[in-house]
Amino acid sequence: MRKSIVVANWKMHGSTDHIKSYVSDLHTKYDSDVITDVDLVFCPPTAYLQSLNLELASNEVSGANHCVLDNCKIGGQDLSHYVSDGAYTGEVSGRMLSDLGCQYVIIGHSERRQYFGENDNLVAEKFIAAIKSGLTPIFCVGENKAERERGETLSVVKRQLQEVLDLACGDDLLNSVIAYEPIWAIGTGLTATPEQASQVHRYIRDLLPNKGISIPVIYGGSVKPENAKELFSEVDIDGALVGGASLNAGSFLSIAASI
Ligand code: PEP
Repeated sequence: MRKSIVVANWKMHGSTDHIKSYVSDLHTKYDSDVITDVDLVFCPPTAYLQSLNLELASNEVSGANHCVLDNCKIGGQDLSHYVSDGAYTGEVSGRMLSDLGCQYVIIGHSERRQYFGENDNLVAEKFIAAIKSGLTPIFCVGENKAERERGETLSVVKRQLQEVLDLACGDDLLNSVIAYEPIWAIGTGLTATPEQASQVHRYIRDLLPNKGISIPVIYGGSVKPENAKELFSEVDIDGALVGGASLNAGSFLSIAASI
């Protein structure tokens, strides 16, 4: 059976105060009877990974209103393609993310590709760096509006995955998550219909070794509490990568509870 996973991508948002109130909200709103068998992965900016991790851990044992946050993990939003320590100013390696308590890392988000010039080759190298550091890569693929309108969705997704398929060896892909994120749906309020998303998820699965039988394929693009249930009712959608709605603990939990 595949793992269900819901990822909070805070992007470049957050502060020490936000983390305190967010985790406090998580404790009061988390219902372990409703959220079962779902990994909740929080990806704050790198600067806040440690405070979030400490806050999640310290609140687990405090206060009568606080319940244990089962299945909460932390992840990075990006990592360096350099694996070994060295003279790479500004870079953060997979080893460092692991050292901070991360189990996951987002790779190849469309904002990294668009604003920071990350190409298919670089993101494939990052994928391998994540695996070498013992992290689970959450590998993002997806077409932009013009590509969808030209009917190129599947070929774009195939091209984006191909470099990873070429570089990775056998078992590397087994410990990974693929996120289908149509760029036209990210932060726009537009969402792929469950059928549109499902079609691409099935296609991705077919490209993966062993038909991706054990690899979660999650959807991202304006997922909200209002549309999550419908998306998750599709058998090929194993969870979500959530941007805007993940900044509110209640909304994020309600998305996770829809699985
Ligand atoms: C994202 O950041 O990957 C994302 C899907 O954002 P949003 O949910 O805001 O569309």
